[in-house]
Amino acid sequence: MQRYFIENDFEHHQVTITGDDVHHITKVMRMTTGETIICCNADGKAAICEIEEITTSHVIANVVEWVKAEKELPVLVTIAQALPKGDKLEYVVQKGTELGASHFIPFTAKRSVVKWDDVKVEKKVKRLQKIAKEAAEQSHRLKVPEVNGRLHLNELIKASAHYDVKIVAYEESAKAGESKNLARALSNMKKDDTMIAVFGPEGGFLEEEIQLLTEHGFVACSLGPRILRAETAPMYVLSAVSYHTELLG
Ligand code: SAH
Repeated sequence: MQRYFIENDFEHHQVTITGDDVHHITKVMRMTTGETIICCNADGKAAICEIEEITTSHVIANVVEWVKAEKELPVLVTIAQALPKGDKLEYVVQKGTELGASHFIPFTAKRSVVKWDDVKVEKKVKRLQKIAKEAAEQSHRLKVPEVNGRLHLNELIKASAHYDVKIVAYEESAKAGESKNLARALSNMKKDDTMIAVFGPEGGFLEEEIQLLTEHGFVACSLGPRILRAETAPMYVLSAVSYHTELLG
């Protein structure tokens, strides 16, 4: 069933859909009254709804049944990705959303080849938010992950202050044979805890960046003995989080 993330809340078991989704429901899906869709609000509440009224500006639908299935990871994971080249960040947001990330923060690392100027940031972030929304719909998530504007490393460190668990994926830890830190970080996590995981660009991290991060409470982790591409590394961590918190239980 087609899923829509609604901006207006449910009111008296009814929802009013506006914006781009109206076009999607009426023109792309060619739906009519009486057909059903799934609507999710910003709090992750979802319901099967029957379309009651269609106009050019809105669609009104009535709740038929609340959806109770748990689709969100039991912990909140923020992926902080150093700006990579080309469209790799789009890949990270799309696949990371499928794997359950709740927040993405692009940031500038010393070896990031790409620079986003302030004009570019707004456009890029808008596009990434759209990708996150579509991926959340496609993967039956109840929440659309947030995509932050681009930060610099020192701003990222400031923003990380309130997280319960802070890790940085460090290729040199992998080369040195470190193998315990990620598992340890995951086993300390309880339901609703927050984790921030930081990933380097194609060229990796400078030692001074790792030093700065570890001075601020980040634990440098290996993701196994193979060196992963910048866009693969966050998927490893998200898969490990899902395995640990949802499957091992
Ligand atoms: N060019 C670097 C690798 C960079 S990989 C080199 O050859 O050493 C890009 C980013 O992915 C890294 O900065 C790190 O955050 C993450 N990463 C990739 N493989 C990893 C591994 N095995 N362990 C930890 N982090 C890894």
